[in-house]
Amino acid sequence: MLSKISFKIDYMKSTFLDPRKGFDLTEENIQVRYDPLTGKTGHFSHVGAINAQKLDLEKYMDPLVKGCCPFCRERKTQATPKFTEELISKGRMMQGESLLVPNLFPYDIYSAVNIMTDDHVVPLDKFNDKRLIDSFSVGTEFLKRVKSKDPSIPFHLMAWNYMPPSGGGLVHPHQQYFATKYPGNQFADELKASKSFFEQYQVDYWSELIQEEQKREERYIGQIGDSYWLTSFISLGILGEILCIFPGVFSINQFTDLNIEELVSGLRIIFDYYLKKNIYSFNASLFFGPGEQGYFPAHFRIVPRTFLNTRDYAPDLNFFQAIMQEPVSIVMPEDLCKELKGCFRV
Ligand SMILES: [Zn+2]
Repeated sequence: MLSKISFKIDYMKSTFLDPRKGFDLTEENIQVRYDPLTGKTGHFSHVGAINAQKLDLEKYMDPLVKGCCPFCRERKTQATPKFTEELISKGRMMQGESLLVPNLFPYDIYSAVNIMTDDHVVPLDKFNDKRLIDSFSVGTEFLKRVKSKDPSIPFHLMAWNYMPPSGGGLVHPHQQYFATKYPGNQFADELKASKSFFEQYQVDYWSELIQEEQKREERYIGQIGDSYWLTSFISLGILGEILCIFPGVFSINQFTDLNIEELVSGLRIIFDYYLKKNIYSFNASLFFGPGEQGYFPAHFRIVPRTFLNTRDYAPDLNFFQAIMQEPVSIVMPEDLCKELKGCFRV
């Protein structure tokens, strides 16, 4: 039977006279791939040419650099806002070290910051199960509470900038949780395309994608409980992208404690891998559909971030992403999958 999902690649070559080789004729391979869900394109070029840069975490501990971090233990109860009593009766939510507060600079009607740890600088190997489970538990519990109080807001998501190369304004680990009518273009495009796919084939794209990738064995990493891990056909980050799908979780209310444990187990494997690769920073998101639909399951996405160098601190995003809205990656999803596969207990 013909596959419902197609993985389309345009293979291209660029030729030039290479000064590194005495001006001999040289060919460089470039790929442009089409996202199998949305049809949007993404570039793959100069594969392997950029290495992640090690960050000097000690430097962030320097009191002069640390400044007056509002998330540090001695300041956070004074420096962070509280929710109104109608939304969160105690003003803030907490579990273990995790403390969830309103964003002092909100992006939306419901815009929360989850201060994940007491420690100001937390390297990836210090995110133990408890810290991560507490953080995701308190954050998703907040979203569930908002949904019950204000069901008119359809979408729920977590966003996480970790360390300065990711665009994170504070080194102190924190996640953001949003309940929103405007979840961003990536979410909106995926939701719309998932609906069309469902209308065309009467199956949800994401479950179909898992099956297809399991068959192909090129980008399928593994399964932990009800979570399925793969590398994305197009990478939103320059150093590749990992995707985790929770089939059957069609709204925040269906996301269970077990799902959180599965997410954390996978994430810790990825963190170990990142440490080996000198990856010190990332962006991550966890999207939840509006419920009452059967085509847009919850999914988590993580992309490494780095400075291109620590001489000029050039960021790893440029006009491609900022203006052309075109992802560029130098890591092939199939290679990333091969490296990660061995680490996953399946
Ligand atoms: Zn701090």
